[in-house]
Amino acid sequence: MTTDERINEAKKLHNEALKKMLDFASKYGTDLIEVSVHGSPCEECAKYQGRIYNISGNDKRFPKYPDWLLSNACPYNCGLMSYPFIEGISEPTYINGDVIEVSNRPFIDDRTPEQIAVFEARRDKILKERQYRMEYEQLQKLLPDVAPKNLGAYSRMKNSNSKGYLTLKEKAKEVGLEI
Ligand SMILES: [Zn+2]
Repeated sequence: MTTDERINEAKKLHNEALKKMLDFASKYGTDLIEVSVHGSPCEECAKYQGRIYNISGNDKRFPKYPDWLLSNACPYNCGLMSYPFIEGISEPTYINGDVIEVSNRPFIDDRTPEQIAVFEARRDKILKERQYRMEYEQLQKLLPDVAPKNLGAYSRMKNSNSKGYLTLKEKAKEVGLEI
């Protein structure tokens, strides 16, 4: 699968899971969703995590379930999870204190410097892997005879800046590809 296909596939899976969750919530007659907490989220997910939302927008006690989560917009796989919340029956799993107050706290990035550092390391790793994957796909397409046998092999040779990699880099340059 190419990177685009993988991203589309992941989005499709997410949307199916989300639809199931929303169906489940409506089956149980609840309009409320609890969103999990991630240890080292991105700036946006930090704002949305650990709250209860309402799906319809009619329950003014809680914020409306945000598009950020509905459309799976996070590019860093923070993996916030949404669960139906049944008032009077469900115990909040991710919220300490008054659920209405906590759910309506200001929508700001309140991560600690440690959480930001962990996130940035995770983000850099994700971006690097994405970059390598795209380069490798281009190599397979433009230089199929000399491309390493798999992405792992390409990543290793690039990380070690090996002779083989430098040769490959030259060949790639000849066909207009920067690696
Ligand atoms: Zn995120």
